[in-house]
Amino acid sequence: VTTNDGVSQFHCELAWLGGDRAVENVLVDVADGVITALSPDARATPAATRLPGLTLPGLANAHSHAFHRALRSRTHGGTGSFWTWRDEMYALARVLNPDSYFRLARATFAEMVCAGITCVGEFHYLHHAAGGRPYRNPNAMGEAMIAAASEAGIRITLLDTCYLRGGFGVELNDTQQRFSDGSVEAWQSRVSSLHPTSADPRSLRVGAAVHSVRAVDPRSIEAVAAWADAHDVPLHAHVSEQPVENEQCGAAYGRTPMQVLADHGALTTRFTAVHATHLDPIDIGLLAQHRCTVCICPTTERDLADGIGPTRELRAAGVPISVGSDSHAVIDLFEEVRAVELDERLLTLARGAHRVPDLLSAATVDGHSSLGWHNAGRIAVGAVADLISIRLDSVRLAGTTADSALAAAVYAASPADVHHVVVGGRVVVCDHRHTSLDVTGDLRDSITRVS
Ligand SMILES: [Zn+2]
Repeated sequence: VTTNDGVSQFHCELAWLGGDRAVENVLVDVADGVITALSPDARATPAATRLPGLTLPGLANAHSHAFHRALRSRTHGGTGSFWTWRDEMYALARVLNPDSYFRLARATFAEMVCAGITCVGEFHYLHHAAGGRPYRNPNAMGEAMIAAASEAGIRITLLDTCYLRGGFGVELNDTQQRFSDGSVEAWQSRVSSLHPTSADPRSLRVGAAVHSVRAVDPRSIEAVAAWADAHDVPLHAHVSEQPVENEQCGAAYGRTPMQVLADHGALTTRFTAVHATHLDPIDIGLLAQHRCTVCICPTTERDLADGIGPTRELRAAGVPISVGSDSHAVIDLFEEVRAVELDERLLTLARGAHRVPDLLSAATVDGHSSLGWHNAGRIAVGAVADLISIRLDSVRLAGTTADSALAAAVYAASPADVHHVVVGGRVVVCDHRHTSLDVTGDLRDSITRVS
């Protein structure tokens, strides 16, 4: 129940307030979208919305390409490699326009909300029409993403991505023309003119991205990094997802991708290295030294046969880890965080590199920080009131106790267990249902339209 003055109250049967254990009977007071009081061991008031099961802070999906959702189950049974998959992805990129992409992204973001994701980092590089011709509004595609997020009820950091070449010394191909502004100066002026009117500014951030050291030359990396510095916004880049990138980068510059980014001013506390799969110890040292974050996308990395990133070493070096569903092979951040630990177990034959609260932090507070939301991802006074609740009486989780609730969330929960989602104090998912969109119908229609 939200009154006209923006005040509301939620009563959580169990809530994770940080720490190693869930707390029982937490009353959460909210005003103007922000948590104003927390009372453990409190009775539910008549006005409070009851949140049974375990309540967590809203999850942050730190790396998304919304349009890849239309590839689900169409490319996953294939053969080949990352590079042959990319051809199939490009075929989809060729047919999207601002309207069809808006519908697809709105449905994809709504699926995320239903899965407990309240903030998405959209790594957005599909900017222009065929042949690289700008739309009448050169930010039509980015603004479509922002409007889609707004209608789905999710916070968004639009990571507007610079993409200028097809590879080291390689021209853009036909599809890649749509990604490119032609020069970093043109990228800067387009991004600087992005003034969306469709979204509540409290739900929007704009950040920057370098697609990769493959797609952006060093001088332009420096210019994108300078823009992110000047605007004090997040900067993301795909880094070392594939061994081939490291080999080609070494041949071109005699440096690793991470070293190239460091040499050209990209590594700061606002920087997130996406994938960071094939790193050497010097790369890990650079990330730690500059207090950067990494974003691991395990369900995509396993789908594309990328490899397993060095998360044990990153953790030991103190590098924060966030997670993303990236290509949306599935949209399930519980699966992403559990894979961070379980992949490590397969690789090292040892358990427990990542503790349960650390994995929950990856999906919440560390993901939000990576996207520039420094007052989100925690259930705490002063934080935004983004809450998700997981049933503990589903067939998967029945038998869970207060002591085992956090481990149940990480190791056994699924998006199907998420029953309520609150964003900025507003209920966006109620009893498993999105409050304003027909999510399954919208997914079916928007995917059919582009495939
Ligand atoms: Zn990506």
